[in-house]
Amino acid sequence: MLNVIIFGPPGSGKGTQSELIIAKYGLYHISTGEILRQEIKKQTELGAVADEYIKTGQLIPDELIIKILADVLDANLGAKGFIFDGFPRTIAQGKALDQLLSEKNTSIIAVLNLAVDEEELLNRLIKRGEESGRTDDDPVVIQKRLEVYRNQTEPLKEFYKKKGKLFTIKGNNSIEDVFEKIAEVLDRLSFQAK
Ligand code: AMP
Repeated sequence: MLNVIIFGPPGSGKGTQSELIIAKYGLYHISTGEILRQEIKKQTELGAVADEYIKTGQLIPDELIIKILADVLDANLGAKGFIFDGFPRTIAQGKALDQLLSEKNTSIIAVLNLAVDEEELLNRLIKRGEESGRTDDDPVVIQKRLEVYRNQTEPLKEFYKKKGKLFTIKGNNSIEDVFEKIAEVLDRLSFQAK
């Protein structure tokens, strides 16, 4: 399986690049944010819990999101590979993902880290907020999400760097340029996938 994590702060282009990766490599997309937004839309119990965290820019508790992820993995074992978008977001989630994949005799092949400077992130998120209607693309919540990213999510870079799996790609460039760099990495590594 070709299992890839698309990593980076909110607004770094993870969703956009995921779509291009899926089109080229046929991976199954797991966006935990998207799963949660669907639950909110369907007005489920889980959606009601998630909404409380999302609208204030906080992370959903590890235990809950790990359970959701485990269920999605189990339901899609026939996939050629997975692209994880917005997961993991904490070291505990990273460890849980390693464990879940190793139980299925597979692993993460690459963590594609999209590096975008903060000013550009803010511009993009505010613009997206005007178009997407997402409750968390509001200026105050955006600041909180960036802070949560720095404190809870960014340490994962070191976690994957130590494993030799971190590939940093400058995300300020055009969508096509960023994808070209991503494809270089994935083409180089895909033969190692198991
Ligand atoms: P995203 O669409 O990935 O930006 O996620 C939107 C929001 O959903 C985040 O700000 C969190 O509140 C929540 N969320 C998504 N993925 C996770 C995760 N892996 N762990 C905890 N919370 C998450």
